[in-house]
Amino acid sequence: MRIAVPSKGRLREPSIQLLHDAGLGPETPGDRALAFPCRNAPVEALLVRADDVPEYVQDGVVDCGITGLDIVRERGANVVELLKLGFGACTLEAAVPAESTAQSLADLSGVRVATSFPRLARELMPGPIELVDVHGSVELAPRLGLADAIVDLVSSGSTLRTNGLRSIALLLESEAVLIGAPNTPPDALQLAGVFRSVVDARGARYLMLNAPEDSLDAICALVPGSRAPSVLPLAEPGMVAVHSVIPATDVWHLLPALEAAGASSILLVPVERMLG
Ligand code: AMP
Repeated sequence: MRIAVPSKGRLREPSIQLLHDAGLGPETPGDRALAFPCRNAPVEALLVRADDVPEYVQDGVVDCGITGLDIVRERGANVVELLKLGFGACTLEAAVPAESTAQSLADLSGVRVATSFPRLARELMPGPIELVDVHGSVELAPRLGLADAIVDLVSSGSTLRTNGLRSIALLLESEAVLIGAPNTPPDALQLAGVFRSVVDARGARYLMLNAPEDSLDAICALVPGSRAPSVLPLAEPGMVAVHSVIPATDVWHLLPALEAAGASSILLVPVERMLG
């Protein structure tokens, strides 16, 4: 099976890390490698530009591929989005110079919009617009008098601010995705399942704690768990151990609340895979 992986840019390393974490055993590629095999699975990774991944997948050159959702939508390729991968998060936003009077997309009707996402700009902006096609340094276009607004990817927003721009609308939320051809072969679907188990596990923690039996109700009410926590008797009479999987995002609030409810010997460990 062949998977296309971004050859450079911000999606390259997290994509290769995903192959590692999925247990495929990718042979670490050198900077100039075009492809690399995996030790533990019959998978070959092809390193191609993130922009080219949708075409490779659509044309069946590879069985599946990793790239940004923004790129998939902009290309309009005939592919299936199999799985969101939880990295490379960014948003496609419309922005104007800070001093502009425009407050919303409705105010951008008929204006010149600089972007390297012409298809998405046309599709996601309501009114007619005059597209100015640029590749790179899109944020400079208003200052150069080339455009009145831009549509570009934003993650922290600092590039916008540095260039005196203000976002007025979020058009698309993007992150890295696994895509497959319309009739994705079964082994690529199986790989998607393995990736899903890794992505889900990254957002989870395994929680273990001890508690007196009489604080069990309060503790169970706090621990969300997918169904109910496991409760195990301890050798010490009147004491139980509670085990549960919790969302990583809850840890900050949950641990002090558990301590206050009577929990002790709290352990939190990473989860490698989550299935079923
Ligand atoms: P790169 O090859 O480094 O230009 O990355 C391209 C892809 O990375 C984009 O198409 C997005 O899917 C993703 N990405 C994540 N954050 C950002 C960002 N702040 N700016 C541009 N691309 C981003």
